[in-house]
Amino acid sequence: LTDTLVIDITHIDYVKVSADKKTAAVGAGIRFGPLYTALGKENVTWTGGICPTVGLSGFLSAGGFNMQMRLLGLGVDNVVSAKVVKVDGKTVTASSTENSDLFWAIRGGGGGSYGVVVEWTLKMHTFPRSAMVLIQWSDRAVRYDVANRFFQWAPREDPAFTSQVNVFKDRVEVLGWCYGCSQEKLKAMVDASGLLSIGTPKTFLSAGCNTNNARMFGYILNECVPDEVVAQYAPFAFNHIQQAFTKLDGYPQFTYNEYPQAPEQPLAQPWDRFYRLSKSFFVQKSKPMTEPTLRDIIARIDTMDDASQVWGEWHAWNISAKGDASFAWREEAYVHMEFIVHGSADETVQKKYIDWYAGLENALRPAVG
Ligand SMILES: Cc1cc2nc3c(=O)[nH]c(=O)nc-3n(C[C@H](O)[C@H](O)[C@H](O)COP(=O)(O)OP(=O)(O)OC[C@H]3O[C@@H](n4cnc5c(N)ncnc54)[C@H](O)[C@@H]3O)c2cc1C
Repeated sequence: LTDTLVIDITHIDYVKVSADKKTAAVGAGIRFGPLYTALGKENVTWTGGICPTVGLSGFLSAGGFNMQMRLLGLGVDNVVSAKVVKVDGKTVTASSTENSDLFWAIRGGGGGSYGVVVEWTLKMHTFPRSAMVLIQWSDRAVRYDVANRFFQWAPREDPAFTSQVNVFKDRVEVLGWCYGCSQEKLKAMVDASGLLSIGTPKTFLSAGCNTNNARMFGYILNECVPDEVVAQYAPFAFNHIQQAFTKLDGYPQFTYNEYPQAPEQPLAQPWDRFYRLSKSFFVQKSKPMTEPTLRDIIARIDTMDDASQVWGEWHAWNISAKGDASFAWREEAYVHMEFIVHGSADETVQKKYIDWYAGLENALRPAVG
């Protein structure tokens, strides 16, 4: 890139929880794994995403969906203030009472647009023990029925329940977090969903998950286990150094700040880099998904080659929590549909993938918004 300035803020990663534990001042370069590790030491946490390598600031600049959001709101709804370096080099505080227009804009108005955020003050939470569910179908033939039922059901469920359906070429699965729910409550919801009468699903439903356990559910663990067992797994999932990725061939790797938030615990291994291509769409409440559109999308997924590892990750929205941030989709978003591909270093193949996204856009935008 030419005429471009990159400011790497990865090393600004402090986490200072207030004495009353209601807020935390956080260096804006932090990623979720280190953030959760530091907050966990104070028995508090925050409404961030599941993946430990995602940066807090980019997440907030795009709204920030999370697995508690149908009840507690987006990431941007759980921010108290920010310190922002403006284009004139001055650092200002942005909050609901100071520079409130800037505060509004940086919460969902797009990354890198309004200044460089160097610190966020976040509203802290202590999540109750929760019930979790993972339902898996290994039969590709049921993908439409499962996704269609999910669309009818999940966004209309109790706001304590936030969930997603993952649609692959060869299988489909539903994953959900029921905030503060008992096993009985979640089981009743799932039994009434109609999902279990489709094909031959394998269901993992478990309650009493502490927060780290819930964040690992469906990825590392498929059940709620005793806290001491969770504590053994957690560092491997979340205790990343700030440079949380493997080295990319031919490029220098920045190596400053290799200190994790919990130096006394094992380190999480770096995530492999890959050419990730990803695009998101919102299904609007006023433009519901139709059967032909959903069938067409699944057929499009099937046209991709196996090397792409294509999958659709579709999240139930219909968020009940109110908010005043600039993020534009709160009222209208019914389902968020993300499509993810492992891109290719081969230019011809990569072009094919990019064209696939263009086709998806042409089909989906007029259909759902
Ligand atoms: C594996 C994975 C999982 C994900 N899961 C979720 C999820 O659960 N929920 C969700 O909402 N999103 C999720 N995302 C999307 C994620 O929120 C975005 O990719 C986001 O941009 C990541 O932010 P970053 O700071 O890591 O990225 P960057 O690429 O560093 O930043 C993204 C943009 O924000 C700008 N920016 C970054 N820091 C600042 C700052 N301090 N001040 C001003 N501008 C800044 C950058 O200039 C850039 O334009 C996921 C992405 C991945 C790869």
